[in-house]
Amino acid sequence: MFSSCNDCAIKSHVLQKNGILHELSVDNHLIERVSANPFEMEEKGIADFKRIGINNVYTFYGFCQKHDTELFKLIETEKTLNLYNQNQQLLFCYRGLCQEIRRKEIALEMLRDLKSIIPKDLSFIVDSAVDGNEDGIKNLNYYKSELEDGITTGITDNFYFETLEIQRIELCISVPLNVGEDEIPENMDYEEWKKSKKTPFVTSFLNVFPKGSSTYVIVGYHREFPCNWTMKFIQKLKKSTRTEILKELSDLVTLRLEFWALSMPLFEKIEKTELKKLQELIEVNVFNHSEYMTTDINLFRNA
Ligand SMILES: [Zn+2]
Repeated sequence: MFSSCNDCAIKSHVLQKNGILHELSVDNHLIERVSANPFEMEEKGIADFKRIGINNVYTFYGFCQKHDTELFKLIETEKTLNLYNQNQQLLFCYRGLCQEIRRKEIALEMLRDLKSIIPKDLSFIVDSAVDGNEDGIKNLNYYKSELEDGITTGITDNFYFETLEIQRIELCISVPLNVGEDEIPENMDYEEWKKSKKTPFVTSFLNVFPKGSSTYVIVGYHREFPCNWTMKFIQKLKKSTRTEILKELSDLVTLRLEFWALSMPLFEKIEKTELKKLQELIEVNVFNHSEYMTTDINLFRNA
C-alpha cells in the first residue's frame, strides 16, 4: 500500500499484535466481525462473528516486510509509543485507512469477476456496487496520499488528531469513517450529484483499543474537511457517563462499522437477542451512511 512500493505484501496486524491484541486474547484467540460465508448467508445474514487466532485476527495484506517494520516502528515499540504524539496518531490512522482501501480493492475485484457470470438483467446491481467501491477507493486514496505526505515530511499540520482516555472496554477498531454530509440531495440523481461534487468526501479516522487499564480513542480528520459527526463524537466521549459511552460505542459498531474485533469475554456478555437484532439491522442499513441513524440495540449493556 505504501506509494511506489511494489514488493509483495505480508500479513499486517491493524493494531499492535503484542501490545494490544495479545493482551485481549483468551487462549490466543479473539472475536472478529466478518462477512458471512455466502453459503451461510441465508441462515446467518450478512455479518457473522468468528473466533480467530492471534496471528490472523485483525490483519490484512497491505505492506511488504520492510515497510511494515519501518513505517510503524514508533507505534509498535513499547518504549517509543506515545499515543498523544501527532506523528504516531497519524500512523494509527494511516494503517486503519490502508486496511479499508485494500478491503475495498478486493471487493472490487470480486464484483468484477461476478459481473462476468451473473445474468445480464442483474448486472446493474453489480455495476452500482462497482461504482460505489471505485468512488470510495478514489476518495480514501486522497487521504492516503495526504497522510503519506505527513509520514514522509514529518509535518502533520493538515490533520487534526485527538487522543482520549476512557474506561477500559475490550473492543478494537481502526478504520476511516464517512458519516453524513455527503448525502445526495433529493432533487439530484447519483450521476448528477457525483459530477457536482468536487471536494473529497468528508472522512474521519477512528481508532479504539484497550491498553493497560484504560481504553484509548484516537480520532483524526483533515483540517480542510472537518467532520461534524466526529467533533460531536469527541464531545460525547468527554462528557458522558460510562453507560452512555458504552451505548455510543455500541451504536458506532452497530450502525457504521464492518471491521472490528473484541475479546471473547466481551462477546459472551452480548445478549443473543441483541445479536439477532444486529443481523437484521445490517441487512436493512448496508448502504446507509446518514449522520442521523439511530438504533435501540445495545451490544455492551452488560459490559
Ligand atoms: Zn513496501
